[in-house]
Amino acid sequence: KPTVILVIGMAGSGKTTLIQRINAHLHATKRHGYIINMDPAVASLPYGANIDIRDTVKYKNVMKQYNLGPNGGILTSCNLFATRFDQVIQLCEKPRDPPLEYIVVDTPGQIEIFTWSASGAIVTELFASSFPTLVAYVVDTPRVTNPQTFMSNMLQACSILYKTKLPMLLLFNKVDVARHEFALDWMKDFDAYTAALEADSSYAATLSRSLALVLDSFYANMRAVGVSALTGEGMEEMLAQVGECAKEYKEFYVPELEKAK
Ligand code: GDP
Ligand code: MG
Repeated sequence: KPTVILVIGMAGSGKTTLIQRINAHLHATKRHGYIINMDPAVASLPYGANIDIRDTVKYKNVMKQYNLGPNGGILTSCNLFATRFDQVIQLCEKPRDPPLEYIVVDTPGQIEIFTWSASGAIVTELFASSFPTLVAYVVDTPRVTNPQTFMSNMLQACSILYKTKLPMLLLFNKVDVARHEFALDWMKDFDAYTAALEADSSYAATLSRSLALVLDSFYANMRAVGVSALTGEGMEEMLAQVGECAKEYKEFYVPELEKAK
């Protein structure tokens, strides 16, 4: 069965560009991938999507029809698409020769639309009950060199981990602009993180320090890879970690599914 990679991250972290790169890499290494775009509001895509939400729902029409603003339009479009998602799963399950190895899912620009909506939960659960599924959480590495931005990003990732309960892979993107080793250091070493905060004695910095202690166990088991959608760095290491996540899915998620039945 193919492994489903749900690509989630803050707007502008590089999800769409990274999927273009993953797609190119899969082609170049003769692996069979399937790309699904779940962003109804994207103007143009740099990759050819196998399934595109925009073919089913036109978010501008949805805005007009239901009298919604842009965010409401996007959210409602996703919800409408989710009601027909069983058909997407059927398409993914169709036997192919050669068989699919990866299903890569692009999500809306605004992270909350996927992580805090009925549609996100439905899509996640439908995939996770049919295929080994993981969340690839994309981080804008140059932006999180600020320790407090780093903290808010990690909290976001942590809440997604506990909400979906799926294996998670952190993808530190844009390493062509800023290397990600500092982030790995901060995750490994509380003192390194507090040293980075040192210059800042504001309340927010104090809060970040306390939160870093809380996140210790989140960091401890977290897989992380530095990648660049621009240069293609890190693609093989990423796929290796995706494989590890698929193993984790089988070990921990499948037994939970069985229990829930
Ligand atoms: P999304 O909102 O998460 O889908 O982000 P996009 O894929 O649209 O990318 C946002 C911006 O980041 C675009 O201007 C991209 O060209 C840029 N970008 C994405 N990945 C990289 C990368 O690896 N390196 C650099 N330098 N820029 C990137
Ligand atoms: Mg995008």
